[in-house]
Amino acid sequence: MSDLYEILEVDSSATSVEIKRAYRKLALRYHPDKVTEEERETAELKFKEISQAYEILIEEDKRKEYDIYGTTDGRGGRPEYEEFNGNPFDNFYGGGAQNFEQEDFYNFFNGMNGGPPGGAPRSAQRKPRTDDAELDVTVTLEDLFKGKIIKSTSTRNIICTTCKGSGAKKNAVMKTCGICEGSGTVRKIRRVGPGLVTQDYVECSTCHGVGKIYRSKDTCKKCTGKRVIEETKILEFEIPKGSEGGEKVVLKGESDEYPGKETGDIVLKFECEPHKVFTRKGDDLYIKYKISLVEALSGFSKVVLKHLDGRGIKISTPTGKVIRPGDFIKIKYEGMPVKKDSSKSSWFGGNSADKRGDLYIEMDIEFPKDNWYLEKNDITKIKNLLPNELQSKRDIEKQTIDKGSLPEANIEVFSDFTIARANALPEYTEKKKEEQGHHFYEGDEYSSYGRAGPGAQPECAQQ
Ligand SMILES: [Zn+2]
Ligand SMILES: [Zn+2]
Repeated sequence: MSDLYEILEVDSSATSVEIKRAYRKLALRYHPDKVTEEERETAELKFKEISQAYEILIEEDKRKEYDIYGTTDGRGGRPEYEEFNGNPFDNFYGGGAQNFEQEDFYNFFNGMNGGPPGGAPRSAQRKPRTDDAELDVTVTLEDLFKGKIIKSTSTRNIICTTCKGSGAKKNAVMKTCGICEGSGTVRKIRRVGPGLVTQDYVECSTCHGVGKIYRSKDTCKKCTGKRVIEETKILEFEIPKGSEGGEKVVLKGESDEYPGKETGDIVLKFECEPHKVFTRKGDDLYIKYKISLVEALSGFSKVVLKHLDGRGIKISTPTGKVIRPGDFIKIKYEGMPVKKDSSKSSWFGGNSADKRGDLYIEMDIEFPKDNWYLEKNDITKIKNLLPNELQSKRDIEKQTIDKGSLPEANIEVFSDFTIARANALPEYTEKKKEEQGHHFYEGDEYSSYGRAGPGAQPECAQQ
């Protein structure tokens, strides 16, 4: 059906006097008796059309029904049934409302049944939100050391700048949606069992939950009634220095906008890829560094690493300083920057200075290979050079064996031994005390005892 107002060439806000006048004018023009023979057929159709339009628009009740539903076939504000899918008026009315306030919605319901749909008290109702968007990136330890700004192009929906989200032209006549009677929600009857139905409140599909409608010719041209338009912009996510992998940067309200909804956030999640040299522990950094035994004893002065900001770090050991197995060289404040607590203002002595963790260099001492000497004399030289006695008196006492208690004949000499590295030692599973009692009662245990026997003894070559 064409728009009845357009047929009568009047505005949708026309008074009944204006409608009457318009009808009379058109009826005269298209009256079959007033036109030529050739024009008669077209004129008859046109005359019928304007008469029908007039009949509806001149009667207050019919016009109201037509304004709301776009038809006069008698669909009233009945609850929307499950089977009743789709919206027959979509083509005629675009859903929309001008500056619709969520408040209006709830006030309406408060006055009606004492509560909003769903039965929850009004204060507990949260404004609906558009979805958050998530972005995942991987950063390097260098990035986290220096801080990084990640730029990303964002295309999102924003509320139409022309219609301010109503979807309709500025001067459009906004009418209360007849389906939901302006509430934005309709009752939906759901069958839950034989003879059993339940009522839910769902968003009105005619007005898309806003409670107001307008005529299709009043649709906003910019957003074509969608109420939102696309916006593309560059977003900047700032990863503060000292951040850790697994943290997030949240840009509040940068997700899609939608009228009546709170705008969601864009969340950038970042992970840190493992570094080849550095291991991070809290705000401290660890590296392993290998030196020779001579360096451990006589010291060294050299660049040992390239730091995360590109600086070279040179270590000069003071003369006479000995590096021992298990030693770490600790360089204060050369670790990661301590992430500033944004909740504390630096004005009040929060984190005004740049704090840094420490750098630990784990010293790995490489001993010379067997038969390292060039001449046998070298061994004598080093024996004479290095102290030959243990430093701790307790160690000396503990390891001194009373020679009187050991006659020479009772001493066995072992020199063809093997050296077992700590990581190559046999693995032992400790038996729990409760289990030990069972061993002699279980048949298979006897056989394993038999296998153990003499072969299990350590082999030692004797000289
Ligand atoms: Zn618009
Ligand atoms: Zn509605």
